[in-house]
Amino acid sequence: MQELLLLLLPVAAASGWFAARKSTRKESEARGCETSPVYFRGLNHLLNEEPDKAIDAFVEMLEVDSDTVETHLALGNLFRRRGEVERAIRIHQNLIARPALSREQRAQALLELGQDYMRAGLFDRAENLFRELKETKLHVKPALHNLVVIYEKESDWDACLEVAEELESITGDKLTLQRSHYHCELALTARAAGRAADAAAHLKKALSTYRGCVRANHLQAQFAASQGDFKSAIRTLRQTAEQDADFLPEVLPEIVANYRHQGDLDGLRDYLRQVVDRHPGVGAELALVDLLIEQDGEAAASAFLAEKLAEAPSLALLLRSIELNARMPEQQSARFLEGLRPHIRTLLEARPLYQCGHCGFAAKTMHWQCPSCRRWSTIKKRHACDAEA
Ligand SMILES: [Zn+2]
Repeated sequence: MQELLLLLLPVAAASGWFAARKSTRKESEARGCETSPVYFRGLNHLLNEEPDKAIDAFVEMLEVDSDTVETHLALGNLFRRRGEVERAIRIHQNLIARPALSREQRAQALLELGQDYMRAGLFDRAENLFRELKETKLHVKPALHNLVVIYEKESDWDACLEVAEELESITGDKLTLQRSHYHCELALTARAAGRAADAAAHLKKALSTYRGCVRANHLQAQFAASQGDFKSAIRTLRQTAEQDADFLPEVLPEIVANYRHQGDLDGLRDYLRQVVDRHPGVGAELALVDLLIEQDGEAAASAFLAEKLAEAPSLALLLRSIELNARMPEQQSARFLEGLRPHIRTLLEARPLYQCGHCGFAAKTMHWQCPSCRRWSTIKKRHACDAEA
């Protein structure tokens, strides 16, 4: 607050002096140079340690003319950045109400006021301003960017599409992935309303807009499966997972379910074998264990699990092994548990022992200064039972 007042005090004084000088000129220099009474009121508030009232008084006395528009804009900006949105709004509204503003100044004030409204969560008002700004042909780009944010918040996907296309034509940036997601949203809305043909059309558009849109492919597969077309659902999901393997853990359960709905267990087995070889650790191992139990029996499944545990132990594989071996005779069980010990040790050793309490950076050894966030003494040993291991 204090630094704001330091900024305002001389500006307000100068403005008061200018204003006084102008009026005295008009009044044939009858009263000579004088300072505005509002200025003294502000000073009075300041001396009484009422900085809020002081600021309001100084802002009130700042005359809006071509010399002080920049000051008003800077002040409004400052208030918004400090989170004092109401003050920022008052200043910018006051600016816009002045007829003397140039076209560029008015557009600048509209943009600022729109940003105040966004900050205050008054999206309806912000939308109107940004639409008006768009018509002025000034600051069109930030206006459109803000409109996209507003329409996304309101889930008005048709409007999002319209604005995104305008943005593309102005900036030359390609917003294809973004537009593809808007079509996905429209497809979901259409499906929820029972308009299957519309939904399908939007998905088609989503994919023609952005061929590799994982979400659109996923939705298309879900639509196909819901209509009993498991074969095409499997094909789409497999293609999607091949394009982007990071997406595999997300779609694998659906691929498995679709193979099972189709009754193609051999096809499922071939596919899971492929995934286990190419992408170990994404969850295909456990699906294959289930299938092996059904087709070859528990012993074959156990042997497969033991093999995978030896290659790359994981908590999920360990848990499944314990579940599988719970029904074993006692002697065999003791040997089995002994066999798990090295895997558990490997998993424990792979875990970081230290962690930064500030940024979450994980480390194997102690650092007094966190290598990630550079804070001191924020790295601590994790739980004592982990440390003992
Ligand atoms: Zn840190």
